[in-house]
Amino acid sequence: MMNRRQFFQTAAAGAAMLASVPRAFAATYDIIVKGGRVIDPSLGIDAIRDVAIAGGRIAAVEANITADATETIDARGKIVAPGLVDIHSHAARTKEGPPLCLLDGVTGFVDAGSFGADSIDDGAAIVKGGPNLGRLLINIARTGVAPGGELMDISRADVGLARGAIARHRDVVVGIKARLSNNVAGTGDLEALRRAQEAAAPFDLPVMIHIGQSYSPMRAILPLLKRGDIVTHMYAPAPNGILDDNGRVFPDVLAARRRGIWFDFGNGVADHFNWDVVERAMKQGFAPDTFSTDWSTTSRTTGVVDFPNVMSKFLMFGMPLDQVIARATVNASRIFGAFNDRGTLNVGAPADVAVLELREGTFEFVDNYKGTRTGKQRLFPIATVNGGKRVPQRA
Ligand SMILES: [Zn+2]
Repeated sequence: MMNRRQFFQTAAAGAAMLASVPRAFAATYDIIVKGGRVIDPSLGIDAIRDVAIAGGRIAAVEANITADATETIDARGKIVAPGLVDIHSHAARTKEGPPLCLLDGVTGFVDAGSFGADSIDDGAAIVKGGPNLGRLLINIARTGVAPGGELMDISRADVGLARGAIARHRDVVVGIKARLSNNVAGTGDLEALRRAQEAAAPFDLPVMIHIGQSYSPMRAILPLLKRGDIVTHMYAPAPNGILDDNGRVFPDVLAARRRGIWFDFGNGVADHFNWDVVERAMKQGFAPDTFSTDWSTTSRTTGVVDFPNVMSKFLMFGMPLDQVIARATVNASRIFGAFNDRGTLNVGAPADVAVLELREGTFEFVDNYKGTRTGKQRLFPIATVNGGKRVPQRA
């Protein structure tokens, strides 16, 4: 029982709490990203807005937020987008990868097949230790990506080992990767894909296949894919890409998209795309569902550079800016459930923000065959907010 004095003390404390409520409503934010052109395709916004962040979450997206903030990021003249989500990366190969791509605005990434069952523990440790939201596709080959082709010996595609590794790492493994090129899988491409599906089935996980110069044609590969699976390196040149001998997108490929297979760009450095295939497919309206870099720390000085550079290649092909951003944010977030609350500046979402600059000028872009094309615009990473905290910029 409370005595009278204790009652009054409690009541006074309650009154003090009530008195503080109006102050709480006028609370300062942690960060305001001020005056930028907010482009968030998930919300249909393309307008000058301020973005307020508090407690690691997006608190408001409005014109002229006048409240105080601990930190202000001046985004005038810049683009403010949801944090970028890169669904085909190799950022987890080293512990330097995740913080390095974060500087490019990549607040979420999927390491696609660097690790197989033998090494997945290492990959899991890296993504869990990294600052951004990292997830893994386990390579169906127990070795992960390996020189000489990890699937040349099909016994490396060990379903039992893959399942065991997934079961140990359900929190970070979001799918399975199978690289099907002739120089990776030889004549075993279809069998490797069958085994990837077998390993994925008990966990209901998607499979991402890497195509291009495979032994088998797309018409044999695509029937082995299920709704929600992903084809990366979609613009890989012949043999056995998405175009027929006359440069038309195969009907099988169009049908696969209609039944819910995703098609991802996957920039990479060798054999994964040339301008001719991109141009032909884009002219037929066969654009990527998502962009991705196939990036690793060693590809910063190659044609990949960073995710905004990869996105800029599609500005060059005439894709509107908001559609370019959609393919690096909300579209990516829909493919893997782990990213469902990312790729958006919706109030309440984790505060992942990419501040980019769209520069006008003359910019040279390269394909995987040293082919160059010149664009008039390029996106550059300027600042990143990750989980409500500003990322310190490059020295
Ligand atoms: Zn890759």
